Amino acid sequence: MRIATYRTENRVEVGVLSEDGSSITPYDLPVERAERGVLALLEPEAALLPLRDVDRPLGFNAIELLAPIPRPRRNIICVGKNYYDHVQEIAEQGFDTTGGGGNVPGAPIVFSKFPECVIASGAPIRWDARVTTALDYEAELAVIIGREGRAIAQVDAMDHVWGYTIINDVSARDVQSNHVQWLLGKSQDGFCPMGPFAVTRDAIDLTDTPIRCWVNDELRQDGNTSLMMFDIPTLIESISAGITLYPGDIIATGTPAGVGAGFSPSRFLTADDRVRIEIPGIGTLENRVKAY
Ligand code: MG
Repeated sequence: MRIATYRTENRVEVGVLSEDGSSITPYDLPVERAERGVLALLEPEAALLPLRDVDRPLGFNAIELLAPIPRPRRNIICVGKNYYDHVQEIAEQGFDTTGGGGNVPGAPIVFSKFPECVIASGAPIRWDARVTTALDYEAELAVIIGREGRAIAQVDAMDHVWGYTIINDVSARDVQSNHVQWLLGKSQDGFCPMGPFAVTRDAIDLTDTPIRCWVNDELRQDGNTSLMMFDIPTLIESISAGITLYPGDIIATGTPAGVGAGFSPSRFLTADDRVRIEIPGIGTLENRVKAY
């Protein structure tokens, strides 16, 4: 099942996409709950949430798409260096700020992005050249947690997953390097395009799902979920060991090879570049870089 959060006639709604993806049927939600997007579907009382206007689905021309969770409750949890080829490419180009020297990490590297940097598919990625001249893209599958838990064992981890979305973990490589820690380089305004939709867990086969990213129609990243070094159950076990995960928490699972910093010379983003990320089963997340 694919879920959209969108604005129509000046109100926010959450709805289910039709099988062919051509129309949306809204859930019958009060406005203040709908504004939380997919979070509204993760509340305990939402189990049997009814749809409304089932005989009058909305076309995409009637809506403005929002991020599936327009404002996450907590920072987006992100995993760094989770694909072998990506670990190699950033080490070879001198962008490995973890001191790892291209070695595979012994445990997942985890950082976070502020909730306020989430933007929808179609919204501009803000580029402020006074802050960064090394703007980069990272296509990632993101997990949406559906059930609270702490010290979750790998074997139980998927029971805590509600579903997935796509995230572009936009990164300012120079800011990452200059400040050692990654928060500033990863959390600039507009640095977390998310969407276009959220999908329930059954929609993605983690053993074989492509993750692809194009910049201006040039294929740059061509990975697969099967290539993650730390799989999703391992990530959930590691993160939840001492931190309670809550419904609506988002875990971005790392990016495959092909980021701008991985090329020699680097191929960073510039004004009007168009970044398009596709994960079959979810859809296409597309954002253009806008200079400020
Ligand atoms: Mg990343």
